[in-house]
Amino acid sequence: MTPETSARKPELRVLLCAPRGFCAGVVRAIDAVERALEMYGPPVYVRHEIVHNKYVVEGLKAKGAVFVEELHEIPAGTTSPVIFSAHGVARAVPEDAARRNFFAIDATCPLVTKVHREATVHHKRGREVVLIGHAGHPEVIGTMGQLPEGAVSLVETAEQARLFQPRDPGNLAFTTQTTLSIDDTAEIVAILRERFPSMVAPHKEDICYATTNRQEAVKRVAPEVDAMIVVGAPNSSNSQRLREAAEREGCRHAVLVQRASEIDWNAFGAIASLGVSAGASAPEILVEEILDAFAARYTLKVETVHTAHEDVFFPLPRQLRSDAAE
Ligand code: SF4
Repeated sequence: MTPETSARKPELRVLLCAPRGFCAGVVRAIDAVERALEMYGPPVYVRHEIVHNKYVVEGLKAKGAVFVEELHEIPAGTTSPVIFSAHGVARAVPEDAARRNFFAIDATCPLVTKVHREATVHHKRGREVVLIGHAGHPEVIGTMGQLPEGAVSLVETAEQARLFQPRDPGNLAFTTQTTLSIDDTAEIVAILRERFPSMVAPHKEDICYATTNRQEAVKRVAPEVDAMIVVGAPNSSNSQRLREAAEREGCRHAVLVQRASEIDWNAFGAIASLGVSAGASAPEILVEEILDAFAARYTLKVETVHTAHEDVFFPLPRQLRSDAAE
């Protein structure tokens, strides 16, 4: 920060959303790669970006992690660990890893694994599973891939919920992606429930605590500010939903940026207040970088808006706990 030149700079009230940034599933997944590097040495193979954040991925690459999209890209016969990302994988992936004799470590977030289990139980009970989520997202691919092809019907929008034709309307259950918009999902669920009143719901909300808390914080801050910055990657579902939540709450200028270098300063020129949040895969150091960039142009008055307290912690995957080391 550069307070010495503050006399010339316009004032900017900054409302920092709390909670923001890393969730327990992301911390666990990153720790898993770091711990595997410590225990087994490089290379450690990681299937897909361990979390959707370039800064994190580049940092792990520098330490010896090798990122691949598919298992066939990993050299045959390797004894190095192969880690599955926090988003989860289809059942076929660990099966393929076993066929290749890979030392597989699953860093799927336990809250995604919970959704996998729910889908599996519904299927075993003969229910058709409706998954509310975004096509092509790795978590959705992983959840759909828990069941045989055709067993899960994906519903992405309210419109699709209105048109959805199940095989047996009296025997349905739904699950959701963990990182959806709370409001959009509530609308889709309400439409499906109205059409299929006996549809079985999750015991506990599938949208995870971190997604919920970050959206609530953004919803509190967004109506009070002229602009909102969400730190996160374009392929991060929960980050995109935060930006949309800010816009929906009436914030005129809500943008998603990965680094300070991406900020379009012309668009921020005349603002007097700014909200700041970060997606669950964005490290706090990037929030600080963005604040420093604003501090070079404005005199900042920073306040933190707390809307929830988080103390969720997930232990490392079994193979990486200290009691599993030799
Ligand atoms: S956003 Fe939620 S589901 Fe995804 S890794 Fe974090 S805690 Fe797990």
